Amino acid sequence: MTAMNEEQLKICARWINESRKGVVFTGAGISTESGIPDFRSPGGLWERFDPSELSFQNFQSSPRSRRLYWEFYRENWRLSKDVKPNRAHLAVADLEKRGKLIAVITQNIDGLHQAAGNTAEKVFELHGNMWEVRCLSCNALYPWEEIFNDLEKGKEVEKCGHCGGLLKPATVSFGQSLPVQTLRDAQEYCKICDLLICIGSSLVVYPAAGLPELAKSSGARLVIINRENTPVDRVADLVIRGEAGKVMSKILRLLDAENG
Ligand code: NAD
Repeated sequence: MTAMNEEQLKICARWINESRKGVVFTGAGISTESGIPDFRSPGGLWERFDPSELSFQNFQSSPRSRRLYWEFYRENWRLSKDVKPNRAHLAVADLEKRGKLIAVITQNIDGLHQAAGNTAEKVFELHGNMWEVRCLSCNALYPWEEIFNDLEKGKEVEKCGHCGGLLKPATVSFGQSLPVQTLRDAQEYCKICDLLICIGSSLVVYPAAGLPELAKSSGARLVIINRENTPVDRVADLVIRGEAGKVMSKILRLLDAENG
């Protein structure tokens, strides 16, 4: 079923009501309303940066690629440092407060689910978090603000003060493996959930994009909320075409109405 009409939203609200073990899976599209562009839509960062140049292998082997990578992060931090959770993030946090969610799995690195009020231990960040900078060798943690300020002053990022290793934002680059335990946890939650709601993910980046099908084949209802088509729409039980914030706030209102 594809549409965004009252009936579709009501079905989603009813399924949330019936669910005991809901999971929300989010991509960059849930954060666009907060002012962080997704990468693939027009105006996104992939118009200005070539993802193939930002691979983990290049980062490790070439000082030129590292400079480009930090330039990319300076832009990312500039775009994201003052953003606030929007009504879609707040709706997801509200679902947790209502006891409807056992986990939030996200491809996002912006930390907005935690900022909206979701419990940090229930948020599984498949691609890491942009607000942490770590040494690739000894794992020492550095404050991102200091590095950002240095970059703004035109300074180069220095090596780790403890071991001389390379510093890197704690996010997963192309060619870098996903955090094994986080991915395992996410897969487990997808296997045991009874409802998976995917919001604003293009569902093209694997292995994360395989999670909705895993949930579906394990018996969960699958709802996809996106303003465009995704390759997983064909297996979904319900596809709601629309803006994440608007859709989620309408669903919450319907949920309130159902519960009197
Ligand atoms: P994507 O850029 O590939 O796709 C975003 C999807 O969201 C698209 O399908 C688009 O149609 C949809 N969308 C955009 N705005 C929407 C809205 N307001 N309402 C409903 N749908 C909307 O993003 P992705 O699938 O998450 O994969 C790209 C990777 O880039 C992510 O894994 C993530 O690590 C990274 N990224 C993260 C952020 C962030 O943390 N906010 C931002 C950009 C990219």
